[in-house]
Amino acid sequence: MSQIKYYSTNHTAPKVSFGEALLKGLAPDKGLYLPDSIPTFTLHEIESFAGKSYAEIAFEVFTKFFGTEIPSDELLAMCHDAYDFDVPLEHVYERKYVMRLDQGPTASFKDFAGRMMGRLMHYFLKQKNSHKLILTATSGDTGSAVAHAFHNLSHINVAVLFPIDEVSDRQRKQMTTLQNNIRLIAITKKFDDAQALVKEAFSDSDLEHLELTSANSINIGRLIPQIVYYIYAYSRLSQSSTDKITFSIPSGNFGDMMGCVLASKMGLPIKKILVAINENNEFEQLLLTKKYAKINPSINCVSNAMNVGHPSNLARLIELYGGNMNEKGEIITPPDYDALDKDFFTVSVDDDLTKKTIGKAWKNYSLLLEPHGAVGWHCLQEYCIQKDISINDLCVSLETAHPAKFPQAVVEQTGIEPELPESMKDLENLDETYDSLNGTYPEFKEFLLRLYK
Ligand SMILES: *Cc1c(COP(=O)(O)O)cnc(C)c1O
Repeated sequence: MSQIKYYSTNHTAPKVSFGEALLKGLAPDKGLYLPDSIPTFTLHEIESFAGKSYAEIAFEVFTKFFGTEIPSDELLAMCHDAYDFDVPLEHVYERKYVMRLDQGPTASFKDFAGRMMGRLMHYFLKQKNSHKLILTATSGDTGSAVAHAFHNLSHINVAVLFPIDEVSDRQRKQMTTLQNNIRLIAITKKFDDAQALVKEAFSDSDLEHLELTSANSINIGRLIPQIVYYIYAYSRLSQSSTDKITFSIPSGNFGDMMGCVLASKMGLPIKKILVAINENNEFEQLLLTKKYAKINPSINCVSNAMNVGHPSNLARLIELYGGNMNEKGEIITPPDYDALDKDFFTVSVDDDLTKKTIGKAWKNYSLLLEPHGAVGWHCLQEYCIQKDISINDLCVSLETAHPAKFPQAVVEQTGIEPELPESMKDLENLDETYDSLNGTYPEFKEFLLRLYK
């Protein structure tokens, strides 16, 4: 097995190992890391996955990308530890399915990448006898996914800033009840202020020794785990070696969708990738006009985790289609638009349609969706109509969050009060701990220096 190296989409930083790319996050030239060759599975290997568990398939994928850097037994143990929850594939009609990626500890698909990335970082930090402080600001969900992903891992501390008045009780409790290596800092200001404090801390040389990192969605360590569930779905649903599969992916920063692109390049027989987006339709416009314009500020939609006016992973997609986009979001070399048109289908779904889709899916199929999954489901329905898709075509739409996380839209459209997943039911009885600051930078800095010395 030869070692894959990771290069930057800006092409001036040196190539690095997976471990280095993981700990760096962004490349020094501000580009995003990608593998210099994409490993493949034979059809025979893909068929053999039918008899393997989710964790075992994850192990096979990771072995291809960074198996030379971690002993097999340790890597397999990490996979079993990270993936100890179900991945339901719900049959809807014909060969159309919904894959529920909402059974992890924070009931969001971000658990799949976060949990593995946490364990991988922990492994490489332990090797180097080094440590990291993950610093992030949240307006709700990202903070809890990050906090859970790194909970109780030595060599890593997590500090999450949140605006006390903008986070719901449930969201706050998902973070403040974890404790141990997870510290929560409430400020009496707004989310933008919390984010500004984090930004200032990252550029403050007095804090360099704290080894700050953001663990955000541009990290290659979050991308590779998102390849696995596409392969898993195919292993469970394909009926013959000539079967092809279509995925509909509710998309914001395009990390999830890039996982599907990589799965396809690894040899998974994918027919079409449906990029389901809300009113932030910059990608649809790019394919239509071959010109790229960010949406700034991004548009607020009910599928709020997808309110992204410039997807941070777009540079990776353009790179893999022969083009180049710099860190400012400017296209330097155009991608192969014909190839993009052939591989992708995209629909922008507004809030009204998103809500109506929740109602219709429930009425027609007893399918319970929340707003993000509804955007994906509508996109799949639209594709089936526009492209006259046959009843034998295998299609899977992703549900990226649990309906109980968005009770208002769900109750309004279906009359159903979705039941909380187990992980969220227990919260009521746990103790909360957090610190409160007024939100000025000197106070915040002093707090960090005192806490993490
Ligand atoms: C983050 C998120 C998305 C979007 O995923 P990207 O990888 O950013 O495209 C979709 N749905 C939910 C619930 C999310 O939390």
